[in-house]
Amino acid sequence: MTYDIIIIGGGPAGLTSAIYTARAGKKTLVVENYAIGGQASLTHEVMNYPGIKSISGFELTDNMRKQAESFGAEFVYDNIIKIDLMGGEKEIVTEYSGAYRASKVILAMGSKAKPLGLEGEAQLIGKGVSYCATCDGNFFKGKSVAVVGGGDTALIDALYLKELAKEVYIIHRRNEYRGSLILAEKVKNSSVKEILNSRIIKLNGSPLKSLTVQNNETNQTFELEVEGLFVAVGSAPQTDLVKDVVRLEDGYIVTDEEMRTNIKGVYAAGDVRKKTLRQIITACADGAIAATSALEER
Ligand SMILES: Cc1cc2nc3c(=O)[nH]c(=O)nc-3n(C[C@H](O)[C@H](O)[C@H](O)COP(=O)(O)OP(=O)(O)OC[C@H]3O[C@@H](n4cnc5c(N)ncnc54)[C@H](O)[C@@H]3O)c2cc1C
Repeated sequence: MTYDIIIIGGGPAGLTSAIYTARAGKKTLVVENYAIGGQASLTHEVMNYPGIKSISGFELTDNMRKQAESFGAEFVYDNIIKIDLMGGEKEIVTEYSGAYRASKVILAMGSKAKPLGLEGEAQLIGKGVSYCATCDGNFFKGKSVAVVGGGDTALIDALYLKELAKEVYIIHRRNEYRGSLILAEKVKNSSVKEILNSRIIKLNGSPLKSLTVQNNETNQTFELEVEGLFVAVGSAPQTDLVKDVVRLEDGYIVTDEEMRTNIKGVYAAGDVRKKTLRQIITACADGAIAATSALEER
């Protein structure tokens, strides 16, 4: 089957691209391998999408899907087993529903926060464990929380959370942070309490009540009472599919401001892209720009 534009990934970036391209009258296909809505659909309350005071992530992205469908966008739920992006006509081969072709492809596969890998961690998402301080910090106003990680994201998260939470701890497995010196200094000079050279070995309670923390040198453990744990140990962009052909940096797709990748006719939008702020609003903005570029370019 041939389309004008194929979009890979049905999160906010892909759905916004679909709204724009389908509304412009282009035959648009969205290929999603899991569930429409992406990471945004995991969050029970979105409070930072302009114009909507509060909405569940599922409802927000379901509305985006309906909007794209109302303009004629088509959806297929399948795994992509082969992709050829190099020629003028790009081809995507799926596991069950055959091959699709288009001259333009928008990559919107998002990223996934890396988990700590602790027992019960997945079950505690929304019950104390979060992978996004900007998104969920507000739910922990006046409470004690911990951030785990030692990179820029962890440091920024700790500084952000100290404005909201009663107490903020930062737990890092080494003695020195991986993140920038300026941020590390800011953390050291702030009310954030550092627990260095230590790791979390157990999550206690559901909802979360405390963490069992172990010092890496002494092996001594103690219990840290917190109601929130923000995991900031890195994220993994979903770029496996294109890693051999599309230019990546730190695993993320490099684009210009018009969302063009290094391959003609191939664009990227949202969390899969190398950028600083990974949020719904920025994913949607990228999606709109990628779609407009795809519509304008011959
Ligand atoms: C728990 C949590 C809470 C959050 N809360 C907020 C919030 O309150 N406010 C906010 O602004 N942001 C929030 N975010 C961030 C926000 O969800 C993301 O920035 C946004 O979803 C990124 O959109 P995206 O479309 O780029 O990627 P994603 O939402 O990750 O969507 C990518 C989609 O592509 C699909 N996909 C991946 N690989 C393939 C493939 N090979 N083939 C087909 N499909 C594929 C995935 O299944 C997914 O559906 C939160 C994130 C998390 C994890």
